[in-house]
Amino acid sequence: MFEKVLIANRGEIAIRIMRACRELDMKSVAVYSDADKTSLYTNYADENVPLGNPSPSQSYLNIEKIINAAIETGADAIHPGYGFLAENPELGVQCEKNGIKLIGPRGDAIEQMGDKITSKRLMKKAGVPVIEGTEKGVQDFEEAKEIAEAIGYPVIIKASAGGGGIGMRAVYEEDELVRALEATQSVALKNFGDSTVFIEKYLERPRHIEFQVLADENGNTIHVGDRECSIQRRHQKLLEEAPSPIMTEELRERMGESAVKAAEYIKYNSAGTVEFLYNNGEYYFLEMNTRIQVEHPITEIVTNTDLIKEQIKIACGEDLEYQQKDIQVSGHAIECRINAENPLANFAPNPGKITGYRSPGGPGVRLDSGVYMNYTIPTFYDSMISKLVTSGRTRKDAVNRMKRALSEYIILGVKTTIPFHKAILRNESFLAGDLHTHFVDEHKKWID
Ligand code: ADP
Repeated sequence: MFEKVLIANRGEIAIRIMRACRELDMKSVAVYSDADKTSLYTNYADENVPLGNPSPSQSYLNIEKIINAAIETGADAIHPGYGFLAENPELGVQCEKNGIKLIGPRGDAIEQMGDKITSKRLMKKAGVPVIEGTEKGVQDFEEAKEIAEAIGYPVIIKASAGGGGIGMRAVYEEDELVRALEATQSVALKNFGDSTVFIEKYLERPRHIEFQVLADENGNTIHVGDRECSIQRRHQKLLEEAPSPIMTEELRERMGESAVKAAEYIKYNSAGTVEFLYNNGEYYFLEMNTRIQVEHPITEIVTNTDLIKEQIKIACGEDLEYQQKDIQVSGHAIECRINAENPLANFAPNPGKITGYRSPGGPGVRLDSGVYMNYTIPTFYDSMISKLVTSGRTRKDAVNRMKRALSEYIILGVKTTIPFHKAILRNESFLAGDLHTHFVDEHKKWID
């Protein structure tokens, strides 16, 4: 087992990882930029190392500084959390050079899954269903036209190196194709330094359903059930639940088997998520996230697991504690991402000082938060400040608890997504479990 783990992240996920370390009897090291001197998470670590300049490239994305902090404190492992360096294969390379264990997958798995064209090609080979589309980059308009015609409109043009919902555009007719192609290529080049785009069929009202997987370094791979993440804005998740309201034992078995196949094919060796789009009884591989995800707590609750601890134990070389048959999904859990954003002003970030704060509690409530009363949310980073998770025996119980918990949650001084979540939870279609990835757009009127 590790003695000391450095957490190369900030906010709620840093606290989440430090809690797991403490339960495993491991010491933890926090790193913090100048903008995070007063951040809550630094109190949860055994040691703190300053990184200086708050800009991400000078702090949480700076591999050299992170590695030096680990060497300086004698940390034997690094946990990257999500975002920042979590899917940067270079971190693993530098860790290995310095005799530090990275708590995460091997670099080649990150690379294979980080490129959408490569990952789709591999998954097709593995026998995992993929969305119909090109298997290589598309460059010129004539080629794009032929492909789009063959697939049938609508199609979507996507950046192969894309992520975070950036660099994709749906195209409904040929007239829009040239502009969409050029636009996606230039966004891709600007954001990811690679202009390669590809074309696939655009599903109009799919559900986003994903499977948590755990794979150890000794070849044991299981799935830990599903999550429904269709409540999104600009392809970014806002509210997630486990299990999906449409999940059946039979569907879970089928999709779960595909998720395991996907992970096994690339010899995956950590916690990861296989994302699918689901449409009319069919499902298709979308991408694999080679990290722990924001929404992991809902899975922990309905399967009685601790995914961060499992991830750490896997990195220690231990065998998985569970076999597939040990994973039983029971009850229902919902997560609302509480962002310091103004839902009435197009979700514009709204950092600032929290002048009033009371957290919710009581039965079935879990709050993973990185903030406190009088804390000033820095402007440099992600606007998510906490994750409110509720659970119950049924979806209805979890929903009613979430309504109650949201009404107890008081955050003054900054605008948050709390009113948005309250509106979602009042919506008839949401309550009926009738979800798809355009839900938020379609129901915008009553949210505004
Ligand atoms: P990223 O890596 O940027 O997160 P993904 O490929 O995971 O991009 O897609 C994110 C979201 O975009 C999906 O959850 C879905 O809402 C939408 N999307 C992606 N591909 C398609 C498609 N072929 N048809 C319909 N929606 C899609």
